[in-house]
Amino acid sequence: MIKVKDLHKKFGNNEVLKGIDCHIEPQEVVCVIGPSGSGKSTFLRCLNMLESITSGDVVVDGHNLSDSKTDINMVRTEIGMVFQQFNLFPHKNVIENIMLAPQKVRKLSEKESRARGLKLLEKVGLSDKAEQFPSQLSGGQQQRVAIARALAMEPKMMLFDEPTSALDPELVGEVLEVMKQLALEGMTMVVVTHEMGFAKEVGDRVLFMDDGVIVEQGDPEQIFTNPQSERTKEFLNKIL
Ligand code: ADP
Ligand code: MG
Repeated sequence: MIKVKDLHKKFGNNEVLKGIDCHIEPQEVVCVIGPSGSGKSTFLRCLNMLESITSGDVVVDGHNLSDSKTDINMVRTEIGMVFQQFNLFPHKNVIENIMLAPQKVRKLSEKESRARGLKLLEKVGLSDKAEQFPSQLSGGQQQRVAIARALAMEPKMMLFDEPTSALDPELVGEVLEVMKQLALEGMTMVVVTHEMGFAKEVGDRVLFMDDGVIVEQGDPEQIFTNPQSERTKEFLNKIL
């Protein structure tokens, strides 16, 4: 589903990604962990071209993002993204937030996009919130709306960048539960998260990033209980 080959990303002279190689298979759930500033967000943003690539190749569902013939906007519509900050439109209510892109980009009618939106709200457990505004919802509810909004485009894969990091602890579980359901339905997911419980239970693989490279990767259980690299051990000691 995603093939990354020798990906480098520089901001000016600051090389933030220093040669990333990885493959993500269809229906795989890959969790990315690593210290702040190690390049996790930049890596995710390169996967859907929110950042330009300095060198290397990123191939998403067969489309090479570095190829000038690739229709980046079309590829982007196949990739749903959920951020730490929910980024809902504050002046639109919940259902309008969800309906917007399907109407504009997928050219769905008002009726179709509303029906799809209501179905997704049911899926994330927020059927009763369709007419509310984001400010009237808890952080956990807003993040579930953000997930429903991303799903409304019927993406082939979902990228999550620390989706629960901005939430009060008691609201983390409800968001992880929605993500777990999505994983069980077979969605391909790349999830930057420090939620080790989620990574162990739902993740097929964990990537540990440090200083712009993937230092170590493998089965979640193995990475958490028997990390091979000193850098992984050091990081896990700090967060566990
Ligand atoms: P992480 O998500 O692992 O915390 P990031 O990918 O956000 O790491 O950042 C990695 C490095 O890239 C940091 O040093 C950060 O300052 C730098 N960086 C990220 N985005 C930009 C940007 N738009 N312009 C300049 N530097 C950036
Ligand atoms: Mg980040």
